[in-house]
Parts: sequence; structure tokens; C-alpha cells
Amino acid sequence: MKSKTSNNVQSNTSPNKPQISEDTPVQYVKGVGPARAKLLDKLDIKTLGNMLYFFPWRYEDRKNLKKISALTPGSQETTAGRVISSNVITTPRKRMKIFELTIADETGELTCRWFNQAYLKKYFPRDQKVILSGVVKGNPYSGFGLEMDNPDFELIGTDDKLIHTARIIPVYNATEGISVKQLRTLMFNTIETYSSLVREYMPEDIIRRNSLAPLPWAVREAHFPEECIDISVLNAGVSPAHKRLVFDEFFLLELGLAFLKKKEALEKGISFTYSGTGLINDFMRNLPFKLTHAQERVIREIASDMKRDLPMNRLVHGDVGCGKTIVALVSILIAVENGYQACLMAPTELLAEQHYMNIHNMVEALGLNVALLTSGSKNKVLEDISGGNVQIIIGTHALIQEQVNFQNLGLAIIDEQHRFGVVQRATLRSKGNNPDILIMTATPIPRTLALTLYGDLDISVIDELPAGRKPIITKVFFPSQKDRIHARIKDELSKGRQVYIVYPLIEESEKLDLKSAIDGAEAMKIKYPDNSVALVHGKMKHAEREDAMARFKAGDIDILVATTVIEVGIDVPNASLMLIVHAERFGLAQLHQLRGRTGRGTYDSFCLLLAYPPFSEDGRSRLKAMESTGDGFKIAEEDLAIRGPGDFFGTRQSGLPDLRIANIVRDIKILERARNEAFTLAEAEPELKSYPDLKETLHKKWMGRLELIKS
Ligand code: ADP
Ligand code: MG
Repeated sequence: MKSKTSNNVQSNTSPNKPQISEDTPVQYVKGVGPARAKLLDKLDIKTLGNMLYFFPWRYEDRKNLKKISALTPGSQETTAGRVISSNVITTPRKRMKIFELTIADETGELTCRWFNQAYLKKYFPRDQKVILSGVVKGNPYSGFGLEMDNPDFELIGTDDKLIHTARIIPVYNATEGISVKQLRTLMFNTIETYSSLVREYMPEDIIRRNSLAPLPWAVREAHFPEECIDISVLNAGVSPAHKRLVFDEFFLLELGLAFLKKKEALEKGISFTYSGTGLINDFMRNLPFKLTHAQERVIREIASDMKRDLPMNRLVHGDVGCGKTIVALVSILIAVENGYQACLMAPTELLAEQHYMNIHNMVEALGLNVALLTSGSKNKVLEDISGGNVQIIIGTHALIQEQVNFQNLGLAIIDEQHRFGVVQRATLRSKGNNPDILIMTATPIPRTLALTLYGDLDISVIDELPAGRKPIITKVFFPSQKDRIHARIKDELSKGRQVYIVYPLIEESEKLDLKSAIDGAEAMKIKYPDNSVALVHGKMKHAEREDAMARFKAGDIDILVATTVIEVGIDVPNASLMLIVHAERFGLAQLHQLRGRTGRGTYDSFCLLLAYPPFSEDGRSRLKAMESTGDGFKIAEEDLAIRGPGDFFGTRQSGLPDLRIANIVRDIKILERARNEAFTLAEAEPELKSYPDLKETLHKKWMGRLELIKS
């Protein structure tokens, strides 16, 4: 355990009480206790510090107390008055208890109802002064008089502080067992009592240069704004308090990344030689096409990394179909030519199989041995790997299991990295003696943003598609237009092309989805008696699936019905049409990935999106974006705008500290400044000796991951 630092602010503690700090388990916070601690744990609140940094997701303006006669039906309003009557009524039929309260001020009366909360009666004696906040409605029966259902209320004593009304109030994400109101009260008391524990750890000159508000103030303000500030500024997350907190989140993220990068730069890696002769020469001579300029450039960048005796950490980033596999393969050949093993890790078994088949075919002639390692692999494969019988190993997550020992791993490639995190990357690295690492992703991320998620990596972009690629014509259809869809499919089949039909597979309705894919395949067999139809899905036996895919690739199958298992990596140039069923249920990036399975040959290609209304506003935007652009970068930006950055980046899985308040899109300017400051500081203060508080905060934020990465 780390010892508590001695320079902690001493507050609210007498000498004989144990000292409370940000690390104190939330259970011991005043007003919490073991039962509530369990509930808070569901919100990921484990310590007092977590609680102080659990910010509201929005705010409501309840500052403007209105007279009752001025309340507008339909709006959320706040008003005050005295109790003139209160009753519990039982409904005759359902026997539901309703607590009914009427208050009055000098301008009128307002009636409020709470359902199944008879116990409330005891709080409202006659003449009690009360503030109420809720949506106003007219009386539905009599047509006159004003009402509120389930308003928030606050009883006004003589010198009580108002928490829920008559101010700008924070709205927290509550959870079952603890209401928004209870949480607000708890947060209010916590902030009152403990916000002085928040320490300023930021170097003074950084505060000055960036005009940052003081941290303890910012924490308080973000919970219970006192400063006269517009509600819209708060809800947009751009108040001075928010800006400070956002800066800190980015700063700590980037500082950690800066240290990771520095640390890795100090480690000795393998210095490969690359002459462009030998194996690679043989391989290139047999390539049926010429590399694009972008591919050549990226290969040069990788080769020059591999030559240096520092470990490579490079991200190759390029749209679907830009030809990343060849680039990976050339890097693999560099390692192999130098007598090292190379591995390629894919996110799914199907994709690993695909890569295995492709790469196996491409290097067979060079006399190299390739192995496929998945969770079901036999021990023989493990022996081949540790004994050095295979030079190239393609696999899934199974590659990072403990029992896998490489003879001499020199290069590790991770395909589709968005599903692998910093931590897995470190594990993979520990499988060799500082092997080079190359990450390939087809999820095109706007470059500035890539810096954040992959901040400790160098980045190469393949920004060019192979010549002769035709744009994929994309169009949305509705169920009433099925005839037109079939006409298009028939047309393609008659030209000798092949067709994909994709069904969604969403976890919560997995069984149903699978059934619709199976039914879909049966229906296609009946509809297209002269064509061969096959079905592939994730629940199939590995060998069966492989067989179906191979037959589709060979052209023996005309129509491949699939669940999203084919999302990535399948490569059949003769397949020129894809129908995506229930397109409204897919994410944008996923639709783009899927669509990229077509348009791989020289034929005009089509992507038909069959959408079932009604669908959400987001669903509509996604379909529109698909119709209007084929550019993966534009799609990514659109996706980011629709889904928001948290979901898009999946920082949780990535092993990076969470961004709770910062928004990578909205706050990009702050990100850039924070990044500069962080990298400058890491250079100037390699051990943060002058900033012990900052150092401690940084380690806490990264929760030990900085150490893990070092090993
Ligand atoms: P992705 O970047 O999506 O992984 P792939 O590496 O699977 O793309 O390549 C897509 C297709 O393009 C494959 O059929 C591949 O053989 C082909 N290809 C790759 N590079 C070129 C090139 N320079 N010229 C023509 N075709 C290419
Ligand atoms: Mg690929």
C-alpha cells in the first residue's frame, strides 16, 4: 500500500480521529454507511475522491421562483407557498394511495400529487412553507386550476440551506435504490464537508498560462453552482469550472501517455536489417498488383522503425479496403528474414482464420510455416510456436494467454486495435524481448483525436485506395420496396456476381436474430432456386464455417447469408452487392465496415440498406450518412457526432483512464493545450520531483497501469 502523504490538508479532523482523505472508502463518508456504499458502488463510486468527482450530467435552473398565478402549463417551473391542505386518497379501483397537497400564495393555489407515497403526509403540516419544482399542468377534469405530479419539494425552515429548489440544481445519474433527490442531498453534504480535501496539484505556471480556475472551487461549482452563470453554459459543459476539470482530465491522461512514450523510448529493442532483397524481393515479384504510394510510404515508415534499436510502437490507420494486410505481411517478412517470429492478433476467430488463409496462401511459395492459434488449438500448435517450427503465428486473444511461449518473438501485429487496450498491448510485448509492435485499425479516427487514444504511438495513415476501386452505391430501402431489392439482386447474380446478405446479431436478442438469419437463408433458397445459398454465423462449428467461406470465395456459392461475423476481413472481389437487413439496428462504423466487403473488384458495387421503421433520430442520421458518403473519415466524424466520444472510443476497454467530464469533440482545443503542457512537463521533469502531489494524482488516475506498462 502506498503511504498517505503527510502534506494532506487537515480539515474536519481532530487529532484522535482517523484522518479522512480522498482514498477513504465511501462507506465511511458521513451519511453513507455500508448499504448505501453498495448502491454507490454500482455508480462506480468507491472512495470519497470518486464521490467528489462524480459530476452531474445536467443542471436545472430553479432559481426563478414564480408566483403561482404566473406558472405556465407545460413548463418545468419552481414556485413557493404555504400548505393549506394535505390528504391521502385511495383510488377506488386499483386501490392506489395518492398523497394530495394544496399550497397557496397570495396569487393562487396549486395542487400536487405523489403516487404511492402516503408517508409524505407527515412532512406537510398546515402552514408549512414549501418550495416545489416540477412540470406544471392544467387540471384535466375541471379545466381550471394548476397541478404538478411528483414535483421535487423542499421544506423551508428558518435557516436551512436549499438543495433542490430556488437555485441551479445538479441532476445526477441515479441508480436503483437511490433517487436523484437522495443522491443530490448526499452530494450536497459531501461537498460541504469534504471539498476542502481537494488539493491543488497543478504546477503554478501551468495554471497561470492556461488561466485555470482553482481546483477546489471548480469541484464545488460543478456540483452546486453559486456563481451567477447561465444554465445553458453549465449544460454545455463550458463554464469556467468545467473547463478547469476538463483540462485536468486531459492533462493527466496526456501526462501518463507522455511518460509511457518516454519510458518505451529508453528501452532497447531489436534492430532489424531491411535490404528489400531476399524474401521480400521474392514476395513482391509475385504480387499481382503494384503497391499504392500510400502503402509504399507506410512500409518505409515501418521499416525505418524496425531498423532502429528502439521498440516500434506504430499505428497504421486506413479505411476499409486500403490494403493493410500487405503492409502487415511485408513487416512480418522483415522480422522473419531476420530470424525472428512474428504474430498477428485478430479480434475474432473468423478474422484470424481469414488472415491465416490469406497469409498462408501468400507465403507458401516462400517456404515459410504459418500457424493458426485460437482458444481451441491443440497443444501441438503451442509446441510448434515455442520450438520455433513456425515463423508466422496468426491468432486471436489466445495469443496472449499464459501458456503461449514464443521462441523469439520479434514483431507483434494487432489488427483492428479498437478492441484491444493498452494493457493487452503490454502483455503481448512481454511475450518477447521488447518486440516491435504494429497496430492496424480500419476504424478511421480523425487525426487529432487519434493522438489522444493512441497518444503514445506513432501514426501512419494509408490515405489512398488501390487504383480502379469503384465507389459503392448505397441506398436505403423500406420493407415495402422488397421487390426492387430482389430485382437488383437478380441483376447482379445474372452477371455472375456474388451477393452478401447480412443480418444483425445483437446480444440481448441473440436467439431471435440467429433465427431470422436462418429463416432468411431458407427464404433465399426458395426465392433463388437456381443459385446456391449458404449460411454462416458465429455459433457454427469452426470447420463448417471455414468450408462455407472457402466455397463462397471460390465462387461455388452465389449468396452468402451471414450474421455480422463477416464484419471484418472477408475478401471476395467478385461479391458486388450487399444487402443489410435491419440496417437501422447497426452502428455507423459497423455499416461502413460491412459495406467495405464489396467494391473490392473492378465491378460497380451496391450496398442496400433495408430499414424497418420506426427508427430513432440517430438511426435516421446513420442511414443518411451512409447514403451520402463513402469516405471513412467523414463517416467516422459523423459517427463521433452521433454517438458521442465516450462510446466511440470505448476508453473503458482501452485501459486508459476514463474521461468523465471531458468531451473529445467539444473540448479539442483544451485537449491540444493540455497535451502540449503535459509533454513539455514530462521532458522538463522526468521524475516529477518538484511536484509530489501531481505525481501522486497521476498514479492514482492511472491506477497502477503506468507501472504495468513499464515492465
Ligand atoms: P484492409 O485494409 O481493409 O485490411 P485488405 O488488406 O484486406 O484491406 O485489402 C483489400 C483488397 O485489396 C485485397 O483483395 C488486397 O489483395 C487488395 N489490394 C491490396 N493492395 C492493393 C493494391 N496496391 N492494388 C490492388 N489491390 C490491392
Ligand atoms: Mg484488414
